[in-house]
Amino acid sequence: MRMQDKVAVVTGAASGIGKEIAATFAREGAKVVIADLNKAAADAAALEMGGTDRAIGVAMDVTNEAQVEAGVAEALAKFGRIDVLVSNAGIQVVSPLDEFPFDKWKQLLAIHLDGAFLTTRAVLRHMYTRPGGGSIIYMGSVHSKEASQLKAPYVTAKHGLIGLAKTVAKEGAKHGVRANVICPGFVRTPLVEKQIPEQAKEFGISEAEVVKNIMLKETVDGEFTTVQDVAETALFFASFGSNALTGQSLVVSHGWFMQ
Ligand code: NAD
Repeated sequence: MRMQDKVAVVTGAASGIGKEIAATFAREGAKVVIADLNKAAADAAALEMGGTDRAIGVAMDVTNEAQVEAGVAEALAKFGRIDVLVSNAGIQVVSPLDEFPFDKWKQLLAIHLDGAFLTTRAVLRHMYTRPGGGSIIYMGSVHSKEASQLKAPYVTAKHGLIGLAKTVAKEGAKHGVRANVICPGFVRTPLVEKQIPEQAKEFGISEAEVVKNIMLKETVDGEFTTVQDVAETALFFASFGSNALTGQSLVVSHGWFMQ
């Protein structure tokens, strides 16, 4: 049990990658707080992970300062401490830059960057007041290192998370707080399923060609990364015991991007 008696808050954990991370942490003994815009789905996920003593759903729009503060307070009231934050909530919007709607640009940056900042600030205020430190994990992407067409705000935001993680690593070290970024390749979650027909339309190619020739073209084996692959990486960062591993970003992408 690598997370025994730890408490983890995972944002965007009602679906996809975040849900698998929360379930993996719960299996390893953690108590988990599933913070999501979709409260009904967060509650359902919490039930699957053991219900009230082990997992709770919390309503949280990560772009809303009051909701983030209230959600973190609810987590602390319920479980008494927070050891791990996984800032994972995210969306994708695809469009060429010259046509990108400004409101969509701002929405995407707010979810990925304001959300990461607000949740980080809320948990740091708690982690700094007690011994034991903590681990903050940001959900980056290969797009934290590399660009793709049609994804300007996503690439911008995901690169930005690396800067935030490095800053948290420097400021948090004296309190035992570590910060790292996971950078997955394509994972078949609702976020990616939505993009396949959108990109097929935008590039005028079939959906199979989007998968083979765009999403998986640069991988070493033509394989998708899985939610389990990403959750294992989150477990590694969350359970690592010292500041030796901080300020880092780890790419998990079947070799799509090598550094
Ligand atoms: P998903 O759509 O399955 O899940 C995203 C979750 O975030 C949903 O439950 C949604 O309700 C929640 N959410 C959206 N906006 C929110 C907000 N404002 N406040 C709180 N919750 C909100 O997507 P996913 O693929 O699991 O993506 C999770 C993270 O992983 C994202 O940051 C994404 O950018 C990143 N990522 C995904 C992939 C991939 O291929 N799927 C690859 C690299 C990185």
